[in-house]
Amino acid sequence: MTTLADPRPGGRPGDLERVPALTAALAARGVHGIVLAYVDTAGVCRVKTIPTARLEAAVAWGVGMSPVFDTFLADDSIVTTDVLGSPDGDLRLYPDLDHLVPLAGQPGWAWAPVDRITQEGERHPGCARTFLRRVVTEAADRYGLAFKAAIEIEWAVGVGSAPADEFVPAATGPAYGAVRQVELSDYTADLLAALTAQGVDVDQIHPEYAPAQFEVSVGALDPVAAADRSVLVRQTIRAVAQRHGLRVSFAPAYLPEGVGNGGHLHLSCWRDGVNLHSGGDGRYGMTATAQAFLAGILAHLPGLTAVTAPSPASYLRLQPSQWAGVFTAWGRETREAAVRVVTGTAGRRDQDANLEVKPVDLAANPYLALGCVIAAGIDGITADRPLPGEITGDPVRYGPEAPAGQAAVTAA
Ligand code: GLU
Ligand code: MG
Repeated sequence: MTTLADPRPGGRPGDLERVPALTAALAARGVHGIVLAYVDTAGVCRVKTIPTARLEAAVAWGVGMSPVFDTFLADDSIVTTDVLGSPDGDLRLYPDLDHLVPLAGQPGWAWAPVDRITQEGERHPGCARTFLRRVVTEAADRYGLAFKAAIEIEWAVGVGSAPADEFVPAATGPAYGAVRQVELSDYTADLLAALTAQGVDVDQIHPEYAPAQFEVSVGALDPVAAADRSVLVRQTIRAVAQRHGLRVSFAPAYLPEGVGNGGHLHLSCWRDGVNLHSGGDGRYGMTATAQAFLAGILAHLPGLTAVTAPSPASYLRLQPSQWAGVFTAWGRETREAAVRVVTGTAGRRDQDANLEVKPVDLAANPYLALGCVIAAGIDGITADRPLPGEITGDPVRYGPEAPAGQAAVTAA
């Protein structure tokens, strides 16, 4: 479980005492430096790096960084507002020691996600990780809820020596094909080894539909840890590719037409260790709480996509019949609905049942995306929103006037 306590000047309670053993263990593994990572509003991962010997100071007093990145755009241009985006001010970056790991794909380096606080020790409103910690804490306090989450990662693998603005697929084999698996066998084996060494439990890694596209799915964690993990997994995918002379793209669309890269969110609500998506009286075993949570996500979906699919390229990906979830609808195992209700296999449903939110891509800030989706679901619980009808099949077969037995759909 991620610690939900805010960092504070002097260090989080108990953290400083952990530093000597941690520093010694890192040094013994040949780790010279630590990458301190957070994701800005535009979805870009920003870092400061420190020598391992500076960990104690970072844990106690944080590492300085300008707040200007909250107004950076994805192309590094900067917008300004009355309160943000000026050259003024400084923030302190505090590593979360529970999630600090040596990077197997980048020997000599370790990695840790950070929370950002002000020099006065207050929460920084622009810190997306702090926002997600707050959403999770409030759901626990108000409703006794906990969550399990995982973010799927799809990416395209290109030839590293191609011109910078050109994507040359590094594999030619077909979707889900053994040929493609063999073509990038060494790369994916090294990637799997690196992820495992970093404590990432991989569920599956396989060739996906689009040219030279792959996907990795990982085990579910609490939402903050799941967002951290998605950042770490992408850092590792990129690092291992570099060592193999390959280049990767997580862009929502990497070819002018066709299927793009998604970043589907898997999410389930739990209370007292019980999965609320299974064993209930509602549709497909959902409890009333799980149904209202799902209804809340659907009610807020068009707005949510501003956060979950935030770039112009996101809308090249969000096309019907490409399993990207462009219709505001839900269905059991329906990959064209924005929310796919995953019941899991008989015998394991109490563990596996969850919701898959599909109009999400990897241009999104994962902390903001998870925080906003959870907040929408909580609103469904608070307002006791009724669950709309479900769909089956591809809604592209009919217009807004749905045939009998099918829910009408609108674009998410
Ligand atoms: N690549 C598809 C997307 O953009 C998802 C395919 C799948 O269902 O895994 O969301
Ligand atoms: Mg996929």
